[in-house]
Amino acid sequence: MPANQQDKFLLSKILATLGPASSDKSTILRLAQAGAHAFRINFSHGTLEQHEKTYRLIRECAEELGMPLGILGDLCGPKIRVNNLPPEGIQLKEGQILSFTTGTPKEGLACCGSDICLTSNFSEWINEITEGEHALLDDGKIRLRCLGVTASGSDGLVRFEVEHGGKLTQGKGINLPETQLSLPALTDHDYQCVRFALQHDFDFLALSFVKDPEDTQALRRFIRREDPDPVIPIISKIERPQALDKLESIIQVSDGIMVARGDLGVEIDLARVPVIQKHILKLCKEFGKTAIVATQMLESMIQSPVPTRAEVSDVANAIFDGADAVMLSGETAVGQWPVEAVQVMSRIARRANEYQRSLPLSLNLPQKQIEARFGSAALAHGVCTVAADLDARFVILWCNHEKSAYDLSSYHLSRPVLAYSDQDSILQRLVLSYGLQPIHCEQPTGIGGFIRFVENDLNQKGYIRQGEPLVFILGYPITQVKVPTVIHIHYTGEPIPFGQP
Ligand code: PEP
Repeated sequence: MPANQQDKFLLSKILATLGPASSDKSTILRLAQAGAHAFRINFSHGTLEQHEKTYRLIRECAEELGMPLGILGDLCGPKIRVNNLPPEGIQLKEGQILSFTTGTPKEGLACCGSDICLTSNFSEWINEITEGEHALLDDGKIRLRCLGVTASGSDGLVRFEVEHGGKLTQGKGINLPETQLSLPALTDHDYQCVRFALQHDFDFLALSFVKDPEDTQALRRFIRREDPDPVIPIISKIERPQALDKLESIIQVSDGIMVARGDLGVEIDLARVPVIQKHILKLCKEFGKTAIVATQMLESMIQSPVPTRAEVSDVANAIFDGADAVMLSGETAVGQWPVEAVQVMSRIARRANEYQRSLPLSLNLPQKQIEARFGSAALAHGVCTVAADLDARFVILWCNHEKSAYDLSSYHLSRPVLAYSDQDSILQRLVLSYGLQPIHCEQPTGIGGFIRFVENDLNQKGYIRQGEPLVFILGYPITQVKVPTVIHIHYTGEPIPFGQP
């Protein structure tokens, strides 16, 4: 048996965005085989009919591969975008004056004394921006300075001077980092997408442009109205400067956090992003919440089959900072090398995980969880301490519910946590958490039968040696209990004291 069979398991998880370059079945299959654990369906692009097809293909691929694949629906939130541009776009030059209106431009692009008068999908901001503030277009490539609002209300008009020019095309984003905006947390389109995601049993929902905990709570309330017994985890995307002042409270009301570096890097000084990433990941660990680092991780692979050295370091450092999952966006959605991008990310994660395993085993305590005196978190603490003391290679649990598995994951133990369940929907919700290895099996009839089954399973796969300790977290009766209460050490080959089955 190879000495380090548990190296087979990636501890860090890979979330790959699907798009025109990757939404066909053969590419989804190859992405999963290359190491993608979950797929992101971005509701900012495409139609619900297209998403329905992609959703079905992912589920088919999971079935064919015999592995759980997670599906994350990414809600756009109130992303402001430019409208009414000609198909070829327009070139903006430094010093040029342009306007945005809440009304309808009368003659093509020109109106109200401005050669270029644009509209956007939301109009509230036009009455909210004030003189001297900036509007950043197309991920900050174009910068405009506000010269003042010259009309308000339903015929509002705001004028800008171009500070940094560039080519502007239809649908590009508008960021207003200095403006206090009153946009809603969820738009009508988001509500439609949430209903769609719930009807199709998506495994995760991400909410864009969260500015305070109330935004995340608004989504949770809506989900509860649609589904009285909701299970879908909510990932809040941190990309607004306002969210940085409320991080702890946003993390508390969320199931996970995405460091959405794309918009974040436009809304705040780019140079602050690495430190903010570290800070968010540290807080997520303390609260025991899933953390995803996103955007431009292997950006050059949109065009090139090999990444830059800096990108490779960025992925590894996100893992060392404490990310549960790393995400690919354009690389897999529109890039020329989607499968290669996942392969590269998987190789980097494997090396990073090997390094993590080589360090003296220490516990990363989710301090806030422990302070909250949750029984399941305390038990996870105990399991991880036992596993660390014994240098056990595997922690194992049966899941009737995902809570205990999440608690174990939050310790970032650098050992695989084998999470068995007979419910695919539970297994799919584990795929983004560090260390968790979801495995489908039939429901055991009792604790003894489960331990025997796992031992046989791991033996057959060649993962364990005779006499090595396996650390189990169990509850009684095993098939019903939601929060386990027992830590059991089983030495392989030794008798099982719980009777059979
Ligand atoms: C981001 O801004 O980094 C992000 C993940 O969101 P989106 O891709 O929806 O812009």
